[in-house]
Amino acid sequence: MEDCVFCKIIKGEIPSEKIYEDDLVLSFKDINPGAPVHVLIIPKKHISSINDLTEEDSKVIAHVFMVAKEITKKLGIADTGYRIVSNTGENGGQTVPHVHFHLLGGRSLNWPPG
Ligand code: 5GP
Ligand code: ZN
Repeated sequence: MEDCVFCKIIKGEIPSEKIYEDDLVLSFKDINPGAPVHVLIIPKKHISSINDLTEEDSKVIAHVFMVAKEITKKLGIADTGYRIVSNTGENGGQTVPHVHFHLLGGRSLNWPPG
């Protein structure tokens, strides 16, 4: 989608530090990391938020978690633990309207979040 920052990253119009890519998903480092490991995993299909998911998106969302699992191994946080978060809407703190999953690790994470 035009004017979507994550679609621009997918198209290579905005540079990113890629961690993983395949036909369905892209993962790259968050520009403003909140933990020693902070990567985003996004479907390549533009979906504005979790609210807009349809049954046909089930495959890519499940794939996101399988990719996340592999990334945690690659980045060395599988054993120490991590958090996967998808902020949604205003109260959820979503700032980019393209579904994305934050993968955070590398330190002990506070719970509940602020
Ligand atoms: P949200 O606030 O919607 O849950 O998460 C959006 C995330 O995207 C934020 O953590 C923000 O730092 C990250 N972000 C926004 N613009 C860019 C960008 O151009 N490049 C990268 N790598 N991350 C971005
Ligand atoms: Zn998009």
